[in-house]
Amino acid sequence: MKKKKNIAIVAHDNRKKDIIEWAEFNWKELIQHNLICTGTTGKLVEDALAVKCLEESVVPPTVSRLKSGPLGGDQQLGALIVEGAVDILIFFWDPMQPQPHDVDVKALLRITVLYNIPTASNRSTADFLVSSSLFHENYQPILKDYEHYIKRDVNLD
Ligand code: PGA
Repeated sequence: MKKKKNIAIVAHDNRKKDIIEWAEFNWKELIQHNLICTGTTGKLVEDALAVKCLEESVVPPTVSRLKSGPLGGDQQLGALIVEGAVDILIFFWDPMQPQPHDVDVKALLRITVLYNIPTASNRSTADFLVSSSLFHENYQPILKDYEHYIKRDVNLD
């Protein structure tokens, strides 16, 4: 991944206040990167960053918005990870309430592990990620070699 990273941001409804506060706290770091969000989260993050940028006379970033999570946004993010278009995932999921798209949430989290994507599910981890020296540096995540899996024998009997 390059110095300028593609950062995906998602928050469930009960965590949206947290993601806004986190984005405001880290706005100076975040605006240096490309931001990709699920629909509703994206609108909130974009608005929060715009206010901060206005206060400091800085040009606000454009946030790429996918579909809303329950309408397929999490799956779009998963596909972007597989294509190598997402470097970091900030995903504040709700630990207290089931979601209509729980299976999509599980799939997204699985794919982040498979592709070795740095992932934060809470504010402290997200703060640690943003304050890492690697956040603004080139970094090559090591991917597991699945060649043996691709070339496996499949029993067709
Ligand atoms: P939203 O989707 O940003 O459109 O609310 C988030 C989610 O529930 O996955």
